[in-house]
Amino acid sequence: MTSIVVLGSTNMDLVAYVPRAPALGETVTGRSFRTIPGGKGANQAVAAARAGGEVSMIGAVGTDEFGVRLRATLDHGAVDTDLLRTVEGASGTAHIVVDDEGGNAIVVVPGANGTVTSLDHGDEALIGTADLLLLQLELPLSVVVEGAATARRLGVRTVLTPAPAQPLPPELLAATDLLVPNEHEAAALTGLTDPREAALALLRDVPEVVVTLGAAGSLYAARGADPVVVPAPRVRAVDTTGAGDTFVGALAVALGEGRPAPEALAWAGIAAALSVQREGASTSMPFRTEIEAAFGATGGDEDRDERE
Ligand code: ATP
Repeated sequence: MTSIVVLGSTNMDLVAYVPRAPALGETVTGRSFRTIPGGKGANQAVAAARAGGEVSMIGAVGTDEFGVRLRATLDHGAVDTDLLRTVEGASGTAHIVVDDEGGNAIVVVPGANGTVTSLDHGDEALIGTADLLLLQLELPLSVVVEGAATARRLGVRTVLTPAPAQPLPPELLAATDLLVPNEHEAAALTGLTDPREAALALLRDVPEVVVTLGAAGSLYAARGADPVVVPAPRVRAVDTTGAGDTFVGALAVALGEGRPAPEALAWAGIAAALSVQREGASTSMPFRTEIEAAFGATGGDEDRDERE
């Protein structure tokens, strides 16, 4: 079983559905409201666990009621939370306004996530047991850099989702094995809007890049080989929230199992396509049996048989 450690955020998403977003100083009446456990770290952890990984989470929740629910969501998702800290004060929150066109505006308040500034011995020992360490940019940059460097030192493969987009320090890039931006993040990092060109530019800093392309699938690039696009299955998308995190969680499991990159991207694309056909983020993530069944139906199993 692939052993995965996620060093990342937990946030309670507070989502108001409105006809149109308010301007500054204006009040609008919303249609409905939902609280949805999220945070890129927690989402990737649940996705990886459902995809069949053995997953542990390093991060923090607050002592408020959101913290209790965020921890419970991970526990129910079969994610080990022994090293998830509980710190005095508020949990991380994301205040999201979704309008009738599906557009959104988001304010993230880091709360407990902001207190995770460095690793302790227990965290390091846990990272040392993993096949892969998953990182994103919703914790303080200092701990993201430390986590990646620790994993590198211990021979653990690092997968970085560079979201929310921001410039990446050289020491973080130097400790990243696989970078997984979406198209917008790839463009923000490189100034290049063509994903293929952006991926090639990013290969100067990291050995492997996957750019996610929404409904168009994903692009894999590695040094010394031509980039390949792996198309996504054509599905009717209901809610794409968390598609990127579902993709990364499943991709990590597939890579940890030793699947070659193009097959791992196809497998992760099937997991993400299953998730976009359902509402919610962590609630929409597929289980391994569903991914395997859909993968077999696309002919992926035949490919595997040929290799054996
Ligand atoms: P999000 O922010 O919504 O979680 P993202 O912007 O990080 O997503 P995307 O590139 O939009 O990332 O989507 C990630 C992956 O999810 C894609 O590479 C693709 O495999 C899958 N996916 C997304 N949207 C669709 C869709 N409409 N149909 C099929 N697959 C999709």
